[in-house]
Amino acid sequence: MFETAIAGSLPKPSWLAETEKLWPQWKAEGAELARAKLDATLLWIKAQEDAGLTTIGDGEQSRQHFVHGFLEQVEGIDFEHKVEMGIRADRYKAMVPQVVAPLRLKGRVHAAEAHFLRAHTKRKIKFTLPGPMTIVDTVADRFYGDRVKLAMAFAELLNEEALALQDDGVDIVQFDEPAFNVYMADAAAWGVRALERAAQGLVCTTAVHICYGYGIQANVDWKNALGDEWRQYEQVFPALAKSAIDQVSLECFHSHVPPDLMGLLKGKDVMVGVIDVASDTIETPEEVADTIGRALQFVPKERLIACTNCGLAPMKRAVAEAKLRALAQGAALARARLD
Ligand SMILES: [Zn+2]
Repeated sequence: MFETAIAGSLPKPSWLAETEKLWPQWKAEGAELARAKLDATLLWIKAQEDAGLTTIGDGEQSRQHFVHGFLEQVEGIDFEHKVEMGIRADRYKAMVPQVVAPLRLKGRVHAAEAHFLRAHTKRKIKFTLPGPMTIVDTVADRFYGDRVKLAMAFAELLNEEALALQDDGVDIVQFDEPAFNVYMADAAAWGVRALERAAQGLVCTTAVHICYGYGIQANVDWKNALGDEWRQYEQVFPALAKSAIDQVSLECFHSHVPPDLMGLLKGKDVMVGVIDVASDTIETPEEVADTIGRALQFVPKERLIACTNCGLAPMKRAVAEAKLRALAQGAALARARLD
């Protein structure tokens, strides 16, 4: 009961990349960089195990950014000529690559990290991929001319990689779809369909993470403008409840999401965000257990997984380590309270 997992990303050590940045520059190149990425992955596998998490991830140590890490292995994308684009409905500007030709995978994207992760922990492993709709919102399209067509093209590539990750021994393939919280009507109309295409044929556990973003200032400002009740999930969860996706990851602690919206996810495992990624204050086990307790009003205990609200990539390393421990200790306390 109450498995524990991170949403996906963890901070990169200062010897691997710039710290406390969303798009950090690497500190090495070539073979040295490849080695450093896996060294950092090993460090975080150990930290997650030591904290007591039941599900282990690679902390996305091998990718500069959760979307562009995948795109770098896609043919038809021009990374040489990035353009500035307002993303997530113009919430913030980013330099994004352009889609200039039909999309095709150059080869495997995450084989090295997945093999490495599987080789270095006996616990359940989760691997994250960006979701099709979020990718569409993080590239400049100069070729397809239609967001749905482009999403379906990416979904096919994601599916290829997801099936290969399953063969690598990954237990849970998770797609990250923060864009679902920005374009709610589109998410319900075609985003969930594209997500299901990306997960087609998978027999391992499938998951989707939908959040209000990293704890960067643009997101903090956006959240402050969303009012007292964040009801974005209300438009997307019914479509997800009907979908083939097994698990849904959502924000809870310190968010203004009405907890009863979790009740819309009947039949799904719910990864409840019990760790705030926008604050350096470390949650106490009591706070984590209290959040789990509130979620239990709407989520059956066998379906509740304690998770972080979002990735921890831009945080300080020591803060992230302490938050991993709080997550595991809080889940343990919640279990004890039910005994
Ligand atoms: Zn997130």
